[in-house]
Amino acid sequence: MSSYDVIVVGAGHNGLVAALYLARAGYNVLVLERNRQIGGAVQSGEITRPGFIHDLWSTNQNLFLASPVYKELKDDLARHGLKYANSPNPYCCAFPNGTSLQVYSDTDKTLNQLRQHNPADAEGWTALYDHFHQFQKALLPLYATPLPSGQAGIKLGQALTSVGFAELVRLARILASSTRQLGLEFFDSREVRTLVATWGMHMDFGPDVPGGAMFPFLETFSDMEEGMNVAQGGAAKMPQALASLAKEHQAEIRTEAEVARIIEENGRAIAVELTSGERIGATRAIIGNLTPDVLFKRLLGDVPISKQVQRYVKSYVYGPGTMMVHLALKGQPNWQGHPDMKDFAYVHIAPYVENLAQTYNDSINGILPADPLLIVGQTSAVDPTRTPGPDDHILWIQVRTLPSQIQGDARGEIRGRDWDEVKEPFAQRVLHKLDHYAPGIRDQILDMTVYSPKDLERHNPNLVGGDSIGGSFHLRQNFLFRPFPNYSNYRMPLEQLYMVGAGTWPGPGTNATSGYLCAQEILKSHSLTKTLVTGAAVGGAAIATGMAVKKLTEGGHDGDRD
Ligand SMILES: Cc1cc2nc3c(=O)[nH]c(=O)nc-3n(C[C@H](O)[C@H](O)[C@H](O)COP(=O)(O)OP(=O)(O)OC[C@H]3O[C@@H](n4cnc5c(N)ncnc54)[C@H](O)[C@@H]3O)c2cc1C
Repeated sequence: MSSYDVIVVGAGHNGLVAALYLARAGYNVLVLERNRQIGGAVQSGEITRPGFIHDLWSTNQNLFLASPVYKELKDDLARHGLKYANSPNPYCCAFPNGTSLQVYSDTDKTLNQLRQHNPADAEGWTALYDHFHQFQKALLPLYATPLPSGQAGIKLGQALTSVGFAELVRLARILASSTRQLGLEFFDSREVRTLVATWGMHMDFGPDVPGGAMFPFLETFSDMEEGMNVAQGGAAKMPQALASLAKEHQAEIRTEAEVARIIEENGRAIAVELTSGERIGATRAIIGNLTPDVLFKRLLGDVPISKQVQRYVKSYVYGPGTMMVHLALKGQPNWQGHPDMKDFAYVHIAPYVENLAQTYNDSINGILPADPLLIVGQTSAVDPTRTPGPDDHILWIQVRTLPSQIQGDARGEIRGRDWDEVKEPFAQRVLHKLDHYAPGIRDQILDMTVYSPKDLERHNPNLVGGDSIGGSFHLRQNFLFRPFPNYSNYRMPLEQLYMVGAGTWPGPGTNATSGYLCAQEILKSHSLTKTLVTGAAVGGAAIATGMAVKKLTEGGHDGDRD
């Protein structure tokens, strides 16, 4: 049996980041990926016609640009082909009466437009933006910090002194709000309330979910400040650059190598077995770039796990499904709203908060929504290298939210109950809606490729039921609770076994952070082991201190006892 220091199961961007950092530190690393392509939810390809490069799943890489990985390795990644196209026109919302609202990176331009729309909304925007600045200063640094950790405690203490107790309480109230409540507090018009609330639906926050305001609060203003960034030439350039940099540090990456199970011996993960029957050993760590269902139900199916962890796995909740509609177009959409709309990275079509609430409730109850939210990405407007000619365009349409298992149709028109049967008629519903906001779009379509929630899971088993975020992001599964209480530090209930990815802190998106923090955790604990061995020669007191520190940094797993 061949053997490595570290095996990473899954070449999503977090798995690749963990592999890269450990290979850089001198570990002998192997990455195993079941698909022919690496990247997981970050892939691109010519899926409609030659020369039209679509981002199959994820497209906006702002989170990656803000990650510690990009900050540290920007130049190396550029050397391996990663460049970004930035749009100063990040997002806008279209409304059924032919109007729209745009958010420009030019904040004055955004505010002027809001003022014309409704002066009270402009005032509310400014007030909420002020809170965002306080949040940026005080709490945003926690996002790339391990939980639990001494560092997190220190940062919370600093937050208290930097913005003061009263502001922290105000921020806590914003973060605990639903998106509907946030809108009620800060805005007057239904249009601006919708402009903010649509961001909640990118995660699984329907307008009435407590704690749903957190993501829109951040995204509304960080996208306004940063614009929107897509990888030039295709989303896949990001994982490809990570992989080629990892290879430069001698990491090995094998594709079409699906792990069937993880082998345990005396409470320690020691090897993996591929679907081909091949076994490969790991002496230091096995890292699953996986969601709990894949890791625990598929790969650890026959390994004894405590009852408490079994309960956590059983009750881990996935978000509603997502459908992707990819269009190759002749010409840009003829938007009814503002002429600038054609240049925007995202166009949100809800149309209003009430529709979002209905769509979300229908989805979680198994009903195909009558009027689904469309997140329309105008990728070629941001990165013109994606199409063969200047008049050729692509649209990336994410349809949120949808039922994973279909039990009915809100309009009573679609009879099928299986996504393989339903995806074409449902895609027609999407196009019909789009045509109202961009008249004539159906005549501009050169080709179309549709992926249903079932296709998402087929492509990547982490996307359970077509959930694009690796598990619901509601408060019960966030922060210290992601994926489970006492397991937010990537260590799973076997020695040497770790989990990274969207199902772990700090959650979904191209943030690369769990892969980064997990690699730090492994490096730290192994250097601690060395310290302990050296400490043994020095004396028992040193060992006792070292063990206390180790226990603290590992977070302990007392919570999984029955
Ligand atoms: C449709 C869609 C749109 C999105 N849009 C955005 C966006 O615009 N911006 C954004 O920031 N985020 C977006 N996201 C979320 C983001 O892309 C994901 O949260 C993130 O990419 C997940 O990365 P990951 O590291 O967890 O691994 P994943 O991407 O889940 O990759 C895991 C890899 O593991 C492999 N694997 C699974 N099981 C095995 C096995 N047994 N053996 C070997 N390999 C295995 C899979 O094939 C996959 O390649 C979107 C997601 C989806 C699905």
